[in-house]
Amino acid sequence: MSNRILVVEDSRAFRNYLQQQLTQAGFEVLTAESFTQAKQILDTQQDLLCAVLDYCLPDAENGEVIDLVLSHQHRVIVLTAMFQEDIREKVIAKGVLDYILKDSKASVSYLLALLTRLTNNQQHKCLVVDDSVTIRNLVTQLLDQQYIATLQAEDGEQALTILEKNPDITLVITDHDMPNKDGINMIRDIRQSQNKNQLAILGLSGSDDHTMTARFLKAGANDFLYKPFNQEEFFCRVHQLLDMKEATDALYKMANEDALTGLWNRRFLFNQPCGGCSQRHVAMLDIDFFKQVNDTYGHDGGDAALVMIANILKIYFPDDVVARFGGEEFCIQVCGDLNEFITRLEHMRERVEKTPTQYKEQQIKLTVSIGVSNKMGTLSQQIKIADDHLYQAKANGRNQTVIQ
Ligand code: GH3
Ligand code: MG
Ligand code: MG
Repeated sequence: MSNRILVVEDSRAFRNYLQQQLTQAGFEVLTAESFTQAKQILDTQQDLLCAVLDYCLPDAENGEVIDLVLSHQHRVIVLTAMFQEDIREKVIAKGVLDYILKDSKASVSYLLALLTRLTNNQQHKCLVVDDSVTIRNLVTQLLDQQYIATLQAEDGEQALTILEKNPDITLVITDHDMPNKDGINMIRDIRQSQNKNQLAILGLSGSDDHTMTARFLKAGANDFLYKPFNQEEFFCRVHQLLDMKEATDALYKMANEDALTGLWNRRFLFNQPCGGCSQRHVAMLDIDFFKQVNDTYGHDGGDAALVMIANILKIYFPDDVVARFGGEEFCIQVCGDLNEFITRLEHMRERVEKTPTQYKEQQIKLTVSIGVSNKMGTLSQQIKIADDHLYQAKANGRNQTVIQ
């Protein structure tokens, strides 16, 4: 998706300021100073994230540029000094994303946050749950303007099935009164397995029952709006939910991932959901003579080698828990057949031996030693056994896997 923004603004100073701010934020900027120039650009430029438009231009004083850009099916944000309420309402009704008053530097900060939101929205998928097809389509159309992909469900039952099949859904917008299963009961079901940080839920209801907000929030919704809703407020709520979701996702990543390799870290390993199924096997892996790698190629060379090992581990164990345990030690946890696990470990060990790390014109050759636990038990017990076997592998001459 494009990150190109069209700015139409007749004041040269403000146009340059916008161009500088948007470029600095990572957007590609096209500028026009008049309706005529904007028209020329639109005739050749199909691919825009959004257009930021002034209301009054020397050759089009009554917002004509807004209709022009909308007629080319582009998203529009109006950034203007025009503060008449009737104009603002008329413009919003045309289907623009936002109407921002150009009254201080804060308005440009707000615009930048909004454009970043639009970019990030493309990573989200929303499930719209309502028995009214009109409402479903209205909400879908509003989200589509915001680049948020949508799926639809007619009731709570259908929504639960769709959620199960589409784990990439990040937001649910739901009505309450529906056949088969109502919104509040559906939220209670969802919250059995996904908390507020994992899946954001916005309740929407046309009921005149004033206890509805509290009921939705107590059932586990992140937020609630009465229908009919104001479009601007709807967008603000959705943006806030997605901002929150992205912030908690980033925090989770920071807390549970190893920054250098992108593997899970030790904290994740010990807190993960597998509390010890009947088929959990654990291997400990340690790079051989890694100190020499650092001594020969420097710390950066050592880091490159660690990333290489991590990437090979991700290839051989894509669906398993692979954690950087510490320094140059890794822990692999697989739930499945032990022999199949050992075979994969051996293939991985051979792959490491055959694939030196390219570092600044040099080839860093590596081998790894592996210890596997041969008993069931708690994770700590299994790690202890695997570690003893790893020690054996080192003592036996390295570059090998020890199971008993
Ligand atoms: P062995 O074959 O017995 O495992 O020998 P070794 O040299 O690999 O083991 P040792 O434990 O003596 O050395 C591990 C080295 O790993 C020491 C430490 O400086 C280095 N190390 C730990 N973490 C990092 C890291 O994040 N980056 C780099 N470059 N080196 C690291
Ligand atoms: Mg080592
Ligand atoms: Mg070590």
